[in-house]
Amino acid sequence: MNLVLLGPPGAGKGTQAKRLQDLRALVQLSTGDMLRAAVAAGTELGRQAGALMERGELVPDELVIGLIAERMDLNKGGKGFILDGFPRTIGQAEALDRLMDARGETVDRVIVIGVDDDALVARIAGRFTCAKCGEGYHDLFKRPKTAGVCDCCGSTQFARRPDDTEKVVRARLKAYHAQTEPLVGYYEGQGKVRAVDGMADIETVQKEIDQALDAA
Ligand code: AMP
Repeated sequence: MNLVLLGPPGAGKGTQAKRLQDLRALVQLSTGDMLRAAVAAGTELGRQAGALMERGELVPDELVIGLIAERMDLNKGGKGFILDGFPRTIGQAEALDRLMDARGETVDRVIVIGVDDDALVARIAGRFTCAKCGEGYHDLFKRPKTAGVCDCCGSTQFARRPDDTEKVVRARLKAYHAQTEPLVGYYEGQGKVRAVDGMADIETVQKEIDQALDAA
């Protein structure tokens, strides 16, 4: 099964993608993670993408389409993909359709996670991750059990994304509404959309997604 997770920044796409990856043996493809790795490695791609990411703008379609095509090639014969943060424009969605077509596959489901903008700003501005194992935390909603120590791996090093400030989050939301939201209509036209309420707690969202995936 190939699955697209669609929703604004902070809707919980990454959290849900990681869980589904473990549960359903699908491969998570996150263009945001790939681009952050390229920035950290100081590659030419990272140099081109970094400045745009800092401003909360989208990087050009051809760069992210190239990344996705490469990763899909590396994963032939698997059970399918969870696309997290891709596609983000109609051009990317059309390119994804072509890539899937070439593999004799299709996008099977598009889960749209809805959350209102002000809740997103509060969510994103407080989030951080363990620098070692990547476990996610939040200043208000999910603090480590022992302050300053990761619940999962015991590390004392944490990281915050440089684009998780209120100003950049507002720019990311603007990009989402202008460039990514039209994808809901694109995939509705293909009968693939299932909407879930991303304002609910994580377990409820998980349940709704599982129901959406298991229903015929
Ligand atoms: P994310 O981790 O998905 O929130 O992405 C972080 C940033 O990476 C975005 O604000 C964009 O600048 C860039 N980015 C990630 N995925 C894409 C994409 N599919 N198309 C364009 N830019 C992207």
